[in-house]
Amino acid sequence: MMLLTKKMIEIRNILQKVGQSSTLTLPSIVVIGSQSSGKSSVLEAIVGHEFLPKGTNMVTRRPIELTLINTPGSNAEYGEFPDLGLGKISDFSSIQRTLTELNLAVPDSQCVSDDPIRLSISSPSVPDLSLIDLPGYIQVVGHNQPLELKQKISELCDKYIQAPNVILAISAADVDLANSAALRASRRVDPRGERTIGVVTKMDLVDAVRGSAILNDRQYPLRLGYVGVVSRVPTSTGIFKTGKTNVLTAITKNENAYFSSHPHEFGPGSDVSVGTTTLRKKLMHVLEQTMSASLQTTSDAIQQELEEATYEFKVQYNDRPLSAESYLAESLDAFKHSFKQFAGEFGRPQMHELLKNELDQRVLDLLAARYWNKPITDLSVPVLEPDSLADLPKADPESLFWHRRLDASTSSLTKLGVGRLATNVVATSIQSHVDNLIGQSTFVSHPFARQAITEAASSILNDRFYSTSDQVENCIKPFKFDIDMEDREWTQGREHVQGVLKKELEACEGAMKDLESTVGGRRKLKEVLHFVDKARKGDVVVENENQAGAGGFSAALLQKGREAAFLRDRADIIKMRLMAVKSKQCASMKNKYYCPEVFLDAVATKLASTAVLFLNVELLSEFYYNFPRELDQRLGRHLSEEEVEKFAKEDPKIKKHLEVIRRKELLELVLDKMESLRQLEGREGQRPKPG
Ligand code: GDP
Repeated sequence: MMLLTKKMIEIRNILQKVGQSSTLTLPSIVVIGSQSSGKSSVLEAIVGHEFLPKGTNMVTRRPIELTLINTPGSNAEYGEFPDLGLGKISDFSSIQRTLTELNLAVPDSQCVSDDPIRLSISSPSVPDLSLIDLPGYIQVVGHNQPLELKQKISELCDKYIQAPNVILAISAADVDLANSAALRASRRVDPRGERTIGVVTKMDLVDAVRGSAILNDRQYPLRLGYVGVVSRVPTSTGIFKTGKTNVLTAITKNENAYFSSHPHEFGPGSDVSVGTTTLRKKLMHVLEQTMSASLQTTSDAIQQELEEATYEFKVQYNDRPLSAESYLAESLDAFKHSFKQFAGEFGRPQMHELLKNELDQRVLDLLAARYWNKPITDLSVPVLEPDSLADLPKADPESLFWHRRLDASTSSLTKLGVGRLATNVVATSIQSHVDNLIGQSTFVSHPFARQAITEAASSILNDRFYSTSDQVENCIKPFKFDIDMEDREWTQGREHVQGVLKKELEACEGAMKDLESTVGGRRKLKEVLHFVDKARKGDVVVENENQAGAGGFSAALLQKGREAAFLRDRADIIKMRLMAVKSKQCASMKNKYYCPEVFLDAVATKLASTAVLFLNVELLSEFYYNFPRELDQRLGRHLSEEEVEKFAKEDPKIKKHLEVIRRKELLELVLDKMESLRQLEGREGQRPKPG
């Protein structure tokens, strides 16, 4: 018979996980009683351990959903809080502490919380039972307690004592039953006494005749009857201290001694029920009966809920199966696929282009510093035209001056730290491509995975960074001493640098346009530019222009004027140099001193090509090999089930999808279990009763 209750409790627990509506549940036994009525003592007697919070000011503030699981053939006794993930706790005083903490965590302003604490206790000596312990009714609010406490407790209990739950109403024998808060409450919801069990505690505190009369009370007759108990643990045994002996054994011994010393009132012929053992049996029996009785209605409700879930699954999700693992696996596969595609498109030519662009910029800077310099300084110091630019077109190939200048420029280029620069440019580009890939993948809405992928990429790149930049630096070393250039390379350089100069020119012109619009038009800019020019030639004297401005222009405007002068001069120089590069003079390598732009461009190309050869081996191939493996490490089999679940649910759409499937599966599982339970019950019913 007990197998049924066990199975039904199992079903009850699964239904709690479905967590949709409160109608989907099997009945439980709810325990109510006034403070100090002996409620905790009764529960502890049933469990056989002291585990409930105690203390003068301790008010239970949350319901405790207590599942007792009988484990025959095992010696282990332990409790578990399924929502806390603390594992099995075999020290009952630690369970008591946890419950105390959970109670204290409810803020005073809230008084009581209807969020239940779930606790299951497994032991060979507990019956299979599902009990809900509620806060005790209070008569008078203590001076430290919130005023609404009494009301709130009463409302919370009312929620739980509804049908089909069984009510275990605890009253103390030394208080008039008519004043019992538990019986009053139960009478309101169960006026005919169909589903209430009356427990009268502290039978030892009244004389036996009076005790027997209480149990025979006809004021509020109960179909399930009253049971009298003496559930206080005899202090002399010191049980709570050692915790070894079962509390129940000690209580029953004490109880038996009391009841058997009054055989007339409580003996076999007396027609009253007494004793904790009797109470336990009654609870088991009543719970089983009640659960069986509600099996059909619950099963109908589940059936209906299942139909709704199935419909939602079909309409909203097209019956598409999904699990957190499969979602992750598919997302990861898709991501790796897109990465592979990227790897196919990003190779040596792309690296070369990136690096060459970067070096082009450095070449422009070098040219500006060493050949095209026309510094714009403080307006109070007039500037003379530097000779280098004006003399450049007539640079004498035999002149040591121009030799040194080109050598120094080339040397600056080869020694600027190409190893670091190249590795950095490529690594940064890879990282940003990976970010783009994430942005286009399902991972975009998963912060956890985004971070894992970004870190996978950066860890490989960081690992390889120093050795790669050293390698690259090493392999370009020969260029630091000697540059061997062929005509073909010169021609290509000449071709290419024209493009670079044109782009730079466009950039200057663009910046000039922007300046115009910030100062309020072309005319305004022209005026201030004119003034700046005059100042630079020394035609006007400007003093302290930084604070007040000069010539009727504000300091800020003059600053813009200087920027404009710089841009205009730069554009003029570039135009001039473009002409020079295009001219016949620059067609031949012989004239390299006239044409440093071409020469430096060709050198930059050599550097880029050589660097790329090594970057390809040291960085790119390594990355392409390791990245997918690193992804597997970080997002694959190493994740725990909870992490995978957490990952998948980061996407609200996926979360909803998974929840519908889970609800459907749980409901199907429950229905299945209920069906086999009904068959089992059917067989039990057919079996001829013994005797
Ligand atoms: P609760 O507040 O309703 O949970 O009540 P407790 O179980 O904490 O009991 C209140 C007090 O009554 C405690 O001091 C218990 O030792 C005592 N008590 C409980 N049951 C009995 C009993 O059957 N007989 C006697 N004499 N005292 C009891």
